[in-house]
Amino acid sequence: MRFSFKTGMVIAVVCIVIILGLLFVQEAREDEQLKVVTTYSIIHDLVENVAGDRVELDTMVPIGEEPEEYEPLPEDMQNVSEADLVFSNGLGIEHWLVSMIQNVAPDQNMVEVTEGIEPFYLYDGGLQGEPDPHAWLDPILVRDYYIPNILDALIELDPEGEEYYQQRAAEYQKELGELDQWIEEQVEQISVENRILVTSEGAYRYFVEAYGFEEGFIWQINAHEEGTPQQIADLIDSIREQEVKAVFVETSVSHRPMERVAEEVGVPIGGVLYSDSTDEPGSENDNYLSMMEHNVVTIVEVLGGIE
Ligand SMILES: [Zn+2]
Repeated sequence: MRFSFKTGMVIAVVCIVIILGLLFVQEAREDEQLKVVTTYSIIHDLVENVAGDRVELDTMVPIGEEPEEYEPLPEDMQNVSEADLVFSNGLGIEHWLVSMIQNVAPDQNMVEVTEGIEPFYLYDGGLQGEPDPHAWLDPILVRDYYIPNILDALIELDPEGEEYYQQRAAEYQKELGELDQWIEEQVEQISVENRILVTSEGAYRYFVEAYGFEEGFIWQINAHEEGTPQQIADLIDSIREQEVKAVFVETSVSHRPMERVAEEVGVPIGGVLYSDSTDEPGSENDNYLSMMEHNVVTIVEVLGGIE
């Protein structure tokens, strides 16, 4: 009786120790989940494609807003100061991030995913001579710079995940190559003289250069001046001069200035394109690959249908 009571006690104690041990390990694992912050939806999607479920991702700029003119919230500062790593596009688009990091987390580990890209430069408006940040609109730059930069940073942060990240990055890079091939084929349907892409913000420089278009815009980059009477008058002149048959608007900026241009010149608005943001999570174009496909289908349907 004494013996079996003692044995029972020992078993009970051992059980309690094991249970506490398991709870402790579980909690430690949850604490170990790496926290990564990205600046806006496009960077979020690209990072997620490599990181999978090994990191917890937070993103600052809400879907559909301009990353150029974002004003960080107190919760962003909190997230950044607690993050293991922050990914930004760089090339000046998140100018608000630099001062924010200096204030709240000067030692923060930060990676600009455009590192190594030879950028185009702005040539119109107040930011002339500054780099054009919209490099993600060329999928080959995403494949050859964005993804390798993301991959290197994740492996450095989490070496145990190396194989996992590498496999995911390689699969995604293959899809980006296929997207590029597909865009090349689609653009063939547009006659050379109709390959003119006119949008509100001149965000598509990397896209037009990659696929043989000319570009037109009301303003070159989202800043304080979006659609001044002078900008609108200039675009109207160039649309008439180049006999542009259709113009486009974007999801992340007001459609009103381009509607005025279209009314004035008598050309249709060919559709709504994505540039600086994906669509809401769960919708058809909530990711980079789909938003690019949507853009190309929209552009080709309109400009490819013109004699
Ligand atoms: Zn932009």
